[in-house]
Amino acid sequence: MNLREQGIAKLKEFSENHLSNYAKSRNFDYGPSKRDNVSNLSKYITHRIIDEQEVIQTAHSKFAYIKIEKFIQEVFWRTYWKGWLEMRPRVWTTYIEDLKQLEKQKDSVEYQQAISGKTSIECFNDWANELIKYNYLHNHARMWFASIWIFTLKLPWQLGADFFLKHLLDGDAASNTLSWRWVAGLQTKGKNYLATKFNINTFSAKKYEVLKLNDQASPLFETTSFEIQPLHFDKVENENSLFLLHNLDSNFLQKFQNKYNHFALLDFNSILESKNYSKQVLDFKSSINEELIDQLKSNFNSDLVVKNKEDLLKIVKDKNIKNIITPYINCGYENDFMNEIKKKIKITYLARDYDQFCYPFATKGFFGFKEQIPKILSKIL
Ligand SMILES: Cc1cc2nc3c(=O)[nH]c(=O)nc-3n(C[C@H](O)[C@H](O)[C@H](O)COP(=O)(O)OP(=O)(O)OC[C@H]3O[C@@H](n4cnc5c(N)ncnc54)[C@H](O)[C@@H]3O)c2cc1C
Repeated sequence: MNLREQGIAKLKEFSENHLSNYAKSRNFDYGPSKRDNVSNLSKYITHRIIDEQEVIQTAHSKFAYIKIEKFIQEVFWRTYWKGWLEMRPRVWTTYIEDLKQLEKQKDSVEYQQAISGKTSIECFNDWANELIKYNYLHNHARMWFASIWIFTLKLPWQLGADFFLKHLLDGDAASNTLSWRWVAGLQTKGKNYLATKFNINTFSAKKYEVLKLNDQASPLFETTSFEIQPLHFDKVENENSLFLLHNLDSNFLQKFQNKYNHFALLDFNSILESKNYSKQVLDFKSSINEELIDQLKSNFNSDLVVKNKEDLLKIVKDKNIKNIITPYINCGYENDFMNEIKKKIKITYLARDYDQFCYPFATKGFFGFKEQIPKILSKIL
């Protein structure tokens, strides 16, 4: 089975056997050996091996909306975060600047203990080890971990978000950065998420007798305010075009067979390697890339790979390319890399209708976005 077949099989199995129970059971973290109360689809969705629209369509084909509302809302959380960050790219660039300032703190004993699961807090150590071993954490464990990181261990939230992004197979700049900000009390201003012993022991399979947490901490605050910038979606021109397929929207070509003249794989792994992404995450992304290159070979007889600006300039020159087109790349390291290339070469981002339709609803909080879900569903179902 290739990755897409695996993702579709997982979606089918989850929809048929576990989806109806999702709302009741999703908050329990039963540990890595029992994860069937949640879908485990995130690593597929993050790379759009299967996309949000088909996940929602499959779920909806099995049950009435009212029975699976919670699941559909969770899928839309991802879309909401992405739209929100696209309109405030400075949240991402500020986070990157903060990380540069905090680089030295990575040498501190406290940080090193936290990322190697050697603190005095047993549950935290368990999750740190689980993340490193499985490259996944249950949503509730992510919330507890982030809360303890920020409020009990008093480490900067940015370093925690960085640790997650580089170890999660589903690592996504929007969902990750904004969820960490949400736990810290920066996203919903003045409202932080505080993990408690009671909540952890109610929802976690393992029970922790000795657990002292700072469950009275105040939210973090920031002086910067991030103004909304209008969304921009490029217009596509196809004349002597080069299409760059990448693993942030892996199923794009299969779904949208347009007419392009040349095809190549855009491989981000060396960029992510330079940012110290974990080996397992890089290996997973490589395995997606291998499947994409097979598709390009069999469908378009191309084995071209772009890893840097020089590779791209060479193809443009050799093939006299007039237009370079790639599936939309959201805020994140991959987009930062593309922005550098865009200083030299014009590149068109091709956005899916789903994103173009949904992102403008992410102007404020999720509550406002949620009210638009019926409208979105009537368009995509
Ligand atoms: C601190 C923190 C960091 C996070 N970082 C990421 C990240 O880098 N990438 C990521 O995809 N999710 C992230 N999440 C959200 C969430 O934890 C995961 O999407 C979810 O646990 C994935 O497991 P699942 O596929 O079984 O989810 P399910 O519960 O089965 O949900 C189905 C799908 O909906 C989406 N989804 C569910 N919950 C959320 C949510 N709270 N926010 C956004 N999308 C959601 C995911 O695409 C998921 O695959 C983070 C949450 C927290 C609290």
